[in-house]
Amino acid sequence: MTAKNNFISLFSYIDCEGGLQSCWPWLAGTNSFGYGRISINGKRYIAHRTIYEHFYGSIKPRNVIRHVCDNRKCCNPLHLLQGTQADNVQDMIERNRMPQKIKHKTILEMAEYWKSGYSQRQIAKIFGHQQCSVCLCFKRLGIRKV
Ligand SMILES: [Zn+2]
Repeated sequence: MTAKNNFISLFSYIDCEGGLQSCWPWLAGTNSFGYGRISINGKRYIAHRTIYEHFYGSIKPRNVIRHVCDNRKCCNPLHLLQGTQADNVQDMIERNRMPQKIKHKTILEMAEYWKSGYSQRQIAKIFGHQQCSVCLCFKRLGIRKV
């Protein structure tokens, strides 16, 4: 299968009916973070990242693709923006979706602990937060162990 064919098959899972201004929801399966996922030739891809790469070129290592529309299933390239994890955190705070008690700098610190092997329970203890809010922050920001 060529890259072009892959791209066309990708679009059969996207609802573009709403036109350029609307969100283009992903119609197939999603991962635990609510992002569209697809596997092509046995390789797994995140739908909106794949769409982004087709339209704008490669994504820098460690960068995230942000949804300006705040709709994780959306694959409209006009709604996708490349940014850093820190931009993403800032977005969330501006939109008030983060539990107020936890500052964005703290979340990034917690993420570092998490990636270096601490459990969310331990991190919650170290930072004095509820385990569920730690886990919620990570989930909302799409932070995962690499
Ligand atoms: Zn959208």
